[in-house]
Amino acid sequence: MVDFRDLGVGLSIADAIGEMGWTEPTPVQEAVIPSGLGGRDIFAQAQTGTGKTGTYAAIVLGRIKSGSRSPSAIVLAPTRELAVQIDLEMKKLSKYSKHRSLAVYGGASISDQIYRLRRGTDIVVGTPGRVKDMIERGVLDLSSIREAVLDEADRMLDMGFAEELNFIIGSLPADRQTMLFSATMSDSITGMAMKMMDDPLKLMVSKDEPCSDLTAQYFIPVSRSGKMERLQMILRNGNPKTIVFCQTKKMVDDLYNGLCRDFRAEAMHGDMPQGKREKVIRNFRDNRFDVLIATDVAARGLDVNNIDCVVNYDVPSDPETYLHRIGRTGRAGKEGTAISFVTKYEDHRIGMYEQATGKKITKIRVDQLEPMERVRTEVPARAEERPFRAERPQRGAGRDRIPAERPARVGNQDGKKFRDKDAMFILQVNLGKNDGVGRMQITDLIKKNTKLNRDIIGRIGLGKTCSYFEVDGDSAEYVIDTLSDCRYGSKKVCVQMAPQKKHYAENAA
Ligand code: AMP
Repeated sequence: MVDFRDLGVGLSIADAIGEMGWTEPTPVQEAVIPSGLGGRDIFAQAQTGTGKTGTYAAIVLGRIKSGSRSPSAIVLAPTRELAVQIDLEMKKLSKYSKHRSLAVYGGASISDQIYRLRRGTDIVVGTPGRVKDMIERGVLDLSSIREAVLDEADRMLDMGFAEELNFIIGSLPADRQTMLFSATMSDSITGMAMKMMDDPLKLMVSKDEPCSDLTAQYFIPVSRSGKMERLQMILRNGNPKTIVFCQTKKMVDDLYNGLCRDFRAEAMHGDMPQGKREKVIRNFRDNRFDVLIATDVAARGLDVNNIDCVVNYDVPSDPETYLHRIGRTGRAGKEGTAISFVTKYEDHRIGMYEQATGKKITKIRVDQLEPMERVRTEVPARAEERPFRAERPQRGAGRDRIPAERPARVGNQDGKKFRDKDAMFILQVNLGKNDGVGRMQITDLIKKNTKLNRDIIGRIGLGKTCSYFEVDGDSAEYVIDTLSDCRYGSKKVCVQMAPQKKHYAENAA
């Protein structure tokens, strides 16, 4: 196995990388870092999720000294969010090398950023508009710049920053290393790259496979009015951590209003103040909510791992945007699912996306989807958000809590029984199909260990590595306590509250 030291990364950066838990370089890092550290210009097709930030950060930090008065490196990024994330990654990677990084972007106080700039930084990470502004005001001294990086260059052009980029690049010393990263390789990007670079190492990372193999892509034919119901079914199917993309801010707001009562959802769009957007991203990263509803601009550069699912509530009109959206999932070696809602007027777009991704997009019905499981550490909900109290009862004590009378069951028109859903809790158990477990095994496990009757158990949803089952609210605590002490074969069973109380796979038996 290759490690970062083999690629020429110095000890202090390699130690910081180790602390970030990166055990081995990604393919882009492996391909680019050695040439970059050698000083060669780089022109790479690499999307978010490929480890591109770590790639150029390792090169920049390996090539510039720390502690300079004026900056030695500049990184340009299309959005404030991305600039902040790059700055964060720079800071983490320079924990031991002591390089200083500063993010500058619009929508925040320029005088504060100027003040920080004057205190000295080695690296400036900025959006093109703010950087140009600072150059014109004479507060950003570029004379010591040795490293220039353009991140998501295609997006910067799409957003109309060509003029700012030309101005900034024209202001840089000629004797520098330039690295350009772009998700796509259009003629305009190639033209720009050739103008600003000298014999670059060209890396078409994923020309034939521009999106991660780890992402399964589906589309669901729907009418406009059928979207909401389908989305709710998807979100209930294993409670995936999901980004839902909408075309307009109004749609984001409408959808948020429709979902917020039943799901832990947040909205994010360009009209929201910067501080609020940053908070939403932080909370999403910390798993404080499950469903982020966003427009493209707001979600651009969003660096959140462990996203299980991307839903294109409205499909984008261009394949690049489709690529960018679905690139939010299937990252850092984890599986992801991308689902597009397609009305009959939009179905021709699927062919365009297939061409862009080089992958088949499979037509599917919601009830055919496998539950999307979340394996993640959740920041504990605040006490008042917990569905029942945090402390567990003494072993066995929970039995006393089972009421003599169970919640009322009401016969439906078929004469079948159904449960008072609000009286049920959903629990998650760390057993699934991969353990050879089916619904019967889960039922038996519960019955055998708790000695409770089958009728405390509601629906059971099976996943590959974990499953979900409903139990009567009054028995939930006891079931968690009792099952968490037992084994299934050689495996220690772990049962906990599913991340949400009421939501559940509609297709569970
Ligand atoms: P990027 O392509 O820069 O947006 O990176 C995507 C995510 O992968 C970020 O959260 C990085 O922290 C993470 N990452 C980058 N390089 C590695 C690596 N070698 N191993 C594991 N994770 C990584």
